[in-house]
Amino acid sequence: MSSSEVWYEVIEHKDYLYVIRERIDEIEPRFHTAYVNIYLLLGSEKALLIDTGCGLFPLKPIIDKIIGQRELLVFNTHCHFDHRGANDEFPEVYIHESEKSMISVPEDISWLKDSSKEIVEKYKKKDFKLKPSAIIKSLKEGDELDLGGIKVKIIHTPGHSVGSISLFTDKGELFTGDLAHYGAMYLPKKSELHVILESLSKLLTLFENFKSKKIYPAHEDYAVGKELISSLHKGISNLDLIWHTKIKDEFLEAWILDDKNFRYVVSIK
Ligand SMILES: [Zn+2]
Ligand SMILES: [Zn+2]
Repeated sequence: MSSSEVWYEVIEHKDYLYVIRERIDEIEPRFHTAYVNIYLLLGSEKALLIDTGCGLFPLKPIIDKIIGQRELLVFNTHCHFDHRGANDEFPEVYIHESEKSMISVPEDISWLKDSSKEIVEKYKKKDFKLKPSAIIKSLKEGDELDLGGIKVKIIHTPGHSVGSISLFTDKGELFTGDLAHYGAMYLPKKSELHVILESLSKLLTLFENFKSKKIYPAHEDYAVGKELISSLHKGISNLDLIWHTKIKDEFLEAWILDDKNFRYVVSIK
């Protein structure tokens, strides 16, 4: 097995949906996060890769093996390093129009040199920089694509970042990126929390109109129910009730608060 095959856990979740996981806590434990979930949707004509992970090990060979002759499209749910990491392995990628400039330049990840995990030494080969893809194209609210037997719709869901998108298939999968997942939720500063609440409400409305939906977030548990979104909305709405319990995280420059469902990482900046 190649080192990529050891690093990535490849799960055939459905015949048209693969989950490819990597352990971000093996790169930097101070993120309070265990898994990155990369998703691969297989239509009859095209395949869609949702995010490219941390870029520590080659991802494209893993994807090429699964997709066969299908044309591959690569969408980033947002611009953060653990989602754009392997963008440079693919000739063309997409991201929401508001974050195009952020992934058009190399991202300096030299701050990861402080990690307690020796595996980050592998980033030395990349000079601790994540390079962009050669061609970066824009996505916007309402964009639709047909993979052949599966249709995917783009929903702009800002809050975690300005250009965060969710993707909704006509088979009932909802991919939420970092907008909603269990574990440590990275939130904007307190005065901007309304933006994330509005995005969560938008997704809840979507659920009301369709049946039997499962959610596939970019971190931690996947194939979870809609209560993820309702309990997260409730938890963020009620943050004031537990605000006095906040602890400062110097590494993340954030306040950390816990309730029974989530760890909230609220930006201080
Ligand atoms: Zn993120
Ligand atoms: Zn992330």
